Amino acid sequence: MSDHCSRQEILSGARKKRLSEAQSRNHLKSCPDCKRMWDVALAFAGAHLVRLSHAPSGWVERAVAIGRKSDLPKRAAAALGRLVSDSWANPAFAGLRGQGDAEARRLNWETGSWTVELRAESGAKGWDLVAQVLHNGNAVTGTALQFNADRVHTDAAGIAIWSGPRPPRRILLTTTEGVVQLEGVKWSRPKKS
Ligand SMILES: [Zn+2]
Repeated sequence: MSDHCSRQEILSGARKKRLSEAQSRNHLKSCPDCKRMWDVALAFAGAHLVRLSHAPSGWVERAVAIGRKSDLPKRAAAALGRLVSDSWANPAFAGLRGQGDAEARRLNWETGSWTVELRAESGAKGWDLVAQVLHNGNAVTGTALQFNADRVHTDAAGIAIWSGPRPPRRILLTTTEGVVQLEGVKWSRPKKS
C-alpha cells in the first residue's frame, strides 16, 4: 500500500480515462483512497466541469473530501468554487478597504483558473450584490452568475449585479467550461466583540 498513485498521474489519467501504468491500475483495486480520488477525477473530467490541468493545489483533495461525505462523484455535481476569503470572517481584510466599506461584505471564490469576487451590501430595501468573474485575472465573455433562480450574464468587465430582499442562498457560476456551485456562506453577521 505504500506506492499510492500520484495526484498528477490521476489527473492526467482521468483526461485519458485510463491510468498509463499497469502498477497503478492494480493499485486502485486494493487502495480505497486512491480509488476514490480516481472516481472523483473521472467524474469531473467527464462532466467537463473544470480543466483539471489547472486545478489549484488542494482542489482535488477537497473534491474528494466532499465526495466522501455525500457520495457525490457518481453524480458529478460536486464542482465547488472554493471560498478563499471572507471579510466578515477576517475583519482585518475589511479594514484595509477603509471605514466607509465596513458594513459591506467581500467574498472571493476560486475554481480552476476562475475567480469570483463579490461585494454585498445591505440597505433599507434589501441586499445589493456586485460580482466580478475573471479568468486568469481577465474578464471574458460567455460567463454568467446565477443568484438563486436569477441568471445574470456578466458584462464586458466581467461584472454582474443583483439585488434581493435577502442574500442569495445559492450562487452558480457558468463559464465556457461548465457550471460550478460556489461554496455557500452563512449570512448571519458575526457578533462584534
Ligand atoms: Zn493508494
